[in-house]
Amino acid sequence: MIDMHKPMTLALIAHDHKKDAMVALATEFADFLKTCALMGTGTTGGRLQAEVGLEVERLLSGPQGGDLQIGARLAEGRVDAVIFLRDPMTPQPHEPDINALVRACDVHDVPCATNVSSARLLLARLAELA
Ligand code: PGA
Repeated sequence: MIDMHKPMTLALIAHDHKKDAMVALATEFADFLKTCALMGTGTTGGRLQAEVGLEVERLLSGPQGGDLQIGARLAEGRVDAVIFLRDPMTPQPHEPDINALVRACDVHDVPCATNVSSARLLLARLAELA
């Protein structure tokens, strides 16, 4: 359950072929995202800082354990929603970590958008709630 009295905490992750889409999405929703506490995997977070001007806590890169870091925080109730632009066309070395994060979202009933259309709907709704 999202606590409306605090800034929303969002986690942002994009696989390599989806990073341009993440930058475009974050640019579209920059006004809302600037009101949130943001965390992201290393490279995704770096691009959002450099190209969108967002303040993002950068965790490890996905293949180095960044997904697991986000999953652990989520399991502790410290993440309100996840935008996870996965690349369904490219095998990932850290597939178990990806599955673990998505599973943690389902276990803890945390919204998780894994494609751009879902992410736009989720961000639009969260911006209305904020
Ligand atoms: P990255 O991690 O943002 O550091 O690239 C995400 C991933 O590719 O899993």
